Amino acid sequence: MLGLYVHIPFCSAICNYCNFNRGLFDADQKTRYVGALLTEITRKGDGSPADTIFFGGGTPSLLDPSEIGTIIDACRTSFALTADAEITLEANPETATRDRLRAFREAGVNRLSFGVQSFRDDELLRLSRLHSAARAREAFQLAREAGFDNVSLDLMMWLPQQSVEQWLSSVDALIALGPDHASLYLLEIYPNAPLRDAMARSKWSLAPDDDAAEMYLGAMARLDDAGYIQYEISNVSKRGLESRHNLKYWRDGEWLGFGCGAHSTRRGIREKNIASTEDYIAAIGAGRSVESDRRVLTAQERFEEAVFTQLRLTEGVDLAAIRERYGVDVWERYGDDLHPFVDQRMLIYDGGAIRLTRDGMLLANEVMSVFIGPPVR
Ligand code: SF4
Repeated sequence: MLGLYVHIPFCSAICNYCNFNRGLFDADQKTRYVGALLTEITRKGDGSPADTIFFGGGTPSLLDPSEIGTIIDACRTSFALTADAEITLEANPETATRDRLRAFREAGVNRLSFGVQSFRDDELLRLSRLHSAARAREAFQLAREAGFDNVSLDLMMWLPQQSVEQWLSSVDALIALGPDHASLYLLEIYPNAPLRDAMARSKWSLAPDDDAAEMYLGAMARLDDAGYIQYEISNVSKRGLESRHNLKYWRDGEWLGFGCGAHSTRRGIREKNIASTEDYIAAIGAGRSVESDRRVLTAQERFEEAVFTQLRLTEGVDLAAIRERYGVDVWERYGDDLHPFVDQRMLIYDGGAIRLTRDGMLLANEVMSVFIGPPVR
């Protein structure tokens, strides 16, 4: 089953740490972009079965619900979308009103993912987010009232000036709301991020590395106690409510991406769309391809990606499946290098799978580096 990703590159304001493919909202450009998206979906539609749609951004909740509905309809017409398809919309709390959320639900969206980032107003201000903690709580309640029974909340940890206790207070606030899914990401501040300047100007600092580890482990322990199940390094959910779409990325699945900068991976081929919103619209208008890059992945790349992404999952890497797909006996080839991680209780090997322990997840890159090596044929 394919996953369908739809990129919506518009935001009401640009956050000072953001490195995504996005720009400021412009109503005219948005209308032209939605038209281009519909054309791309129709062009690429081949009737293949698909069971997820994910509207990511940017801020997809800035689109009108009727536009989201039209895009979902185009996906249904162009692909064999299953009746129980998971249809996720990323939303920012400040865009959530009772009427809009109801209309998104009626348009076919059945999962919301709110970018909350923090339940502390001082932290939200430092990140230049537009919403307050109270607005995030309100958005969550409005989503429930609108009939959304699958809501995810995102938080970011290791923020400027954030202590372990402050971070854990946000985690507690999230647990108190009781979302169905949560994603906890470490803030990464890219080299030219305006947040870097703000940090220098205001003398904001980051907690030491040891505290970042404590933040991660402390949050996961609280989520365990609250009944959430960790299924990926950064993601937890109530039972059966993992993100089906994101699992396609982590379980060596296939997906098609629509919109500027979107990626597709199918039949061992990786394609990337033109990143610029205007260039993407122009290419569609001129009847040209929107691909900016197309590569047949090598056997080694496919193998490495499969292992890296599956190692992120708590279920780990299914060694028989890897052997069947890539002809590699992982333990025979890499066992000597992996053994020290097993001895340090960072990795579990049970004969059928290898899995990172929670401590191992903190140093996942070290384990993954073992697999960058001799080519797989
Ligand atoms: S809302 Fe999200 S995509 Fe938009 S600027 Fe902020 S972090 Fe980036």
